[in-house]
Amino acid sequence: MTKITVVIPCFNEEDALMIYYWEMEKIMEEMKDVAFELLFVDDGSRDRSLSIMKTLHEKDKRCRYLSFSRNFGKEAAIYAGLKNANGDYVAVMDVDLQDPPALLPKMYKILQEENFDNVATKRGDRTGEPRIRSFLSESFYKFINKISGTEIVEGARDYRLMKRKMVDAVLEMSEYNRFSKGIFEWVGFRTKWLEFDNVERSAGETKWSVGKLFRYSLEGITGFSVAPLSLAAVIGVLFCMLSFVMILVIIMRTVIWGDPVAGWPSLVCIIFLVSGIQLFCTGIVGQYLSKTYLETKHRPIFILRESSEEEERRGALQKP
Ligand code: UDP
Ligand code: MG
Repeated sequence: MTKITVVIPCFNEEDALMIYYWEMEKIMEEMKDVAFELLFVDDGSRDRSLSIMKTLHEKDKRCRYLSFSRNFGKEAAIYAGLKNANGDYVAVMDVDLQDPPALLPKMYKILQEENFDNVATKRGDRTGEPRIRSFLSESFYKFINKISGTEIVEGARDYRLMKRKMVDAVLEMSEYNRFSKGIFEWVGFRTKWLEFDNVERSAGETKWSVGKLFRYSLEGITGFSVAPLSLAAVIGVLFCMLSFVMILVIIMRTVIWGDPVAGWPSLVCIIFLVSGIQLFCTGIVGQYLSKTYLETKHRPIFILRESSEEEERRGALQKP
C-alpha cells in the first residue's frame, strides 16, 4: 500500500490542532487505498500544542510528532519533517486549514495519473489581506525574479505533495539559511500548479510579523541571487566615468575662464552622497558575509527535544 506522510509544522497552535485532525480524519477516510502518517512538528511551542500531539499519538498511531528544543522557524520544521518522513509521497501542510486538506485527494490523483513529480499550490487572490502587505509582497516577487535565476512563483504556498525522489533532492540541500520557495524550485522536477482562493485561519493567529517577513524576504534574495553583490562594482564604474567627464569639464572651464573659488557646499553634498553609497554597498557585502559565516559554522538546522519514536522506544523498554 502506498503511504503518504503529511508534514505539519506547528508553532503555538493549541487552538488549531484538533480542528485540523478532525478535518484530516475525513480525508483519510475518503482515501481508503492509501496509508497515512501525520507527522506533526512542534517548533518549540510554549502552549499545549505538544501535549495535544501526544494525546493524538496515543489515540491514533498514524499520528507522530517531533518536538524541537526551541523555536527554529517554519523552514527548519519543514526540513525536520521531510527528513523523518517515511512515506512514498510527502505533503507539507499548515495546521490552520489555510492549506485546504480537501485538495489532497486531487493532488494525489494528479501524481498517479499524470507525469508530474509534485503538485504545488498558490493563492488565487489576496482578499482579506491589508493593502500595504499585498503591495510589499508583490514588489518583492517582482524584484527577486528580476535578479534571480530561480523563479520564485508569486503567491506560492508551501502546501505541496511530492514524490520520494523530489523529497530526497530537497533534503540534499542541507543549507542553514533555508528559503523553501526557492529550494523547491531550484531542485527542478515537473511541477503542476493548483490555484485556490484565500482561506481564513481556522483558529489562533498568524505567526508572521512584518519584521519576520522582511527578514524572510532578505533570506530569499541572498539565498537565490548574487546580483546585489555586483551593485558596488556597477555603481563604482558609473561614478568613475562621471568623475572623468567632470574633470575634463573643470579643466576646460579653468583654461577658458580662469579659476574663481566657489562651490564648496556642492562638494559637501557630493561627499555625503558618495559615502552613503559606499556604506550601502558595504552593507550588502555584509549581508552575504553574515550568511556565509552562519553557513560555515555548520550548525544543525534543528534540535530535537523529544519525539513519538523516542517515547515508543522508552515504552517498549519499560514493558516486562
Ligand atoms: N509555523 C512554525 N514556526 C514558526 C512560525 C509558523 O512552524 O516559527 C507554522 C504555523 O504553526 C503554521 C504555519 O507555519 O502551521 C504557517 O504559519 P501562519 O499560519 O502563522 O502563517 P500565514 O499562514 O499567516 O502565512
Ligand atoms: Mg496560516
